[in-house]
Amino acid sequence: MNKSFPQLKGPLLHNHPLAKHTSWKIGGPAEYFYRPVDTEDLIKLLNAWQDEPVTIIGAGTNILIRDQGIKGLVIHLRNSLNKLQALDENTIHSEAGVNLTYLVQKCTELGMIGATFMAGIPGTLGGALKMNAGAYGDAIWHYVKSVETINRHGQIKTRAATEFIASYRQIEGLAKNEWFISAELKFNSGEIEKAKQQMQTYIQKREKSQPLNLPSCGSVFRNPDGDYAARLIEVNGLKGKQIGGAKISEKHANFIVNCGNAKAADVESLMQEIVATVEKSNGIKLITEVHILGD
Ligand SMILES: Cc1cc2nc3c(=O)[nH]c(=O)nc-3n(C[C@H](O)[C@H](O)[C@H](O)COP(=O)(O)OP(=O)(O)OC[C@H]3O[C@@H](n4cnc5c(N)ncnc54)[C@H](O)[C@@H]3O)c2cc1C
Repeated sequence: MNKSFPQLKGPLLHNHPLAKHTSWKIGGPAEYFYRPVDTEDLIKLLNAWQDEPVTIIGAGTNILIRDQGIKGLVIHLRNSLNKLQALDENTIHSEAGVNLTYLVQKCTELGMIGATFMAGIPGTLGGALKMNAGAYGDAIWHYVKSVETINRHGQIKTRAATEFIASYRQIEGLAKNEWFISAELKFNSGEIEKAKQQMQTYIQKREKSQPLNLPSCGSVFRNPDGDYAARLIEVNGLKGKQIGGAKISEKHANFIVNCGNAKAADVESLMQEIVATVEKSNGIKLITEVHILGD
């Protein structure tokens, strides 16, 4: 059924394909889809949206959307809620839809060397907060001072970082139907030229080790304590294994790439095979890092 909310600033789309909003280029449609123009627009939408479930996505770089799609309303924050402001030489305030690459670039230009570990991690700030995105032993929640969240009824709260517990690729403290809309982050500062160099080094490292020429979602599994998911997948001879259009990358075994026409079902079958094989031969149950959405 088509719904209409004349008070909104943009179009509410019905049966909107989501594959193009994910880095895997996979996924069925959203029953309803909306990209808010600003926070006020998001509040109006959530005030008006009474019944069906709500899902918020960022740049779709860590989600597998199932082929049947997502019921209810999907709110897409990438390229909306995208204001970024430096508060002083160490501190920035960023809305949740800001692209992480842009955020790192801005921080680097201001000499905030502490932000460079995020160089090359795709996605939005909101997704990074939810996933506690990180690299090289560092992670974003080390730098969060406070966040603003919104709930299912459009109510906004400012919350201190101390209200959350961040660990490897996850956080505790966010309620069901509560989402990030902005954050204040504080990074160490240093020399601008050194920060720029460090950012380039991190980007080059990724280009060398990751299959960035094909659609993927980055690492599919979390690294188990004291080991690497990629190593475990590789020693079991699974590199290059393909189901339908989904293939375990030859370059990085913890990446599953879309060779052109992969379905979410292909990716899930491959993930199940990896988990079963590694558990059987190494006694380790790999945990999925990627969030699976939809029925
Ligand atoms: C090539 C490649 C390399 C990568 N390398 C890394 C890496 O080094 N380190 C790393 O940590 N990750 C990495 N990733 C994974 C991914 O980029 C990060 O997890 C990123 O932070 C996800 O952001 P997103 O906006 O794309 O989130 P999405 O994929 O859109 O969403 C991820 C989850 O967060 C939820 N979410 C999104 N926005 C919000 C919000 N505003 N409030 C609350 N919940 C929200 C979604 O519902 C979903 O559950 C990589 C991915 C790719 C494709």
